[in-house]
Amino acid sequence: GCAFLDGAFCAIEDAKISVLDWGFLRSDATYDVVHVWKGRFFRLDRHLDRFFASVDKLRMACPYDRDEVAAILAECVRRADLEDAYVEMIMTRGVSPTFSRDPRDAINRFIAFVIPFGWILRPEERDAGLSVAIAETQRISPLSVDPTVKNYHWLDLVRGMFEAYERGARTVVLPDGAGNITEGPGFNLFVVKDGRVATPDSGVLHGITRLSALDLLAEAGIEAVARPVSLAETRAADELFATSTAGGIMPVTSLDGAKVGDGRPGPITSKLIEAYWAAHTRPDWT
Ligand code: PMP
Repeated sequence: GCAFLDGAFCAIEDAKISVLDWGFLRSDATYDVVHVWKGRFFRLDRHLDRFFASVDKLRMACPYDRDEVAAILAECVRRADLEDAYVEMIMTRGVSPTFSRDPRDAINRFIAFVIPFGWILRPEERDAGLSVAIAETQRISPLSVDPTVKNYHWLDLVRGMFEAYERGARTVVLPDGAGNITEGPGFNLFVVKDGRVATPDSGVLHGITRLSALDLLAEAGIEAVARPVSLAETRAADELFATSTAGGIMPVTSLDGAKVGDGRPGPITSKLIEAYWAAHTRPDWT
């Protein structure tokens, strides 16, 4: 792996930040993850749009502009010498040199790193699909933390993961307080019923893979909408799938110990997985 920290490239093992960084002490940070597939960035423009929008919303200033960030990421990938790579860019509030508690005093910090592309689903698990538990823990998306700002507030998600492990599931989806599902640790969720597809519209990160899935389904003439999705319809779904940059489109074949559909990846999910990987060579989706 390779990293870029405080203006210089370094080996990932040497990329270390101060414990006084507000990103570490107060989770005052945002990040984005993009992947490189067969030597090519996938939807980098979309990820940079979301990253810079988040940086603005948090009132941070990135020391590099969009083109410079793109160049830094590309150089990290080159130095890491990876064909398929997981690429993370981070902005933290940084360290306040005077130890003040005023965020305006901190010197904002840009960090990037590249590691091998990490499947959330191991290749051998892809056909079998994910087993998911619906947590008791609710997704905390208070108005004060905008969930569309990609953030490291994962206390609820991590608590949910432990719930899932205790129940023998691979991963988890958290409900909101109103009887709807939200998202999981690093992925959005989609439900398929009678050939129609839906994904939660609020209280979730607007995932780029979620967007790709919505676009590809629309292109295939399959109705796919973002709207509230209830726990009841999640349990009654014909197919479920998760979307994330790090894992692509992942079939969910078991929910709270019960089979989803016939317990195998469904036809719409399988078709979408194919379309998703085929889209990696589209010139308009670089
Ligand atoms: N929800 C959360 C909470 C996430 O952290 C992520 C990705 N890290 C996603 C959804 C999926 O977003 P994307 O498709 O952009 O990777």
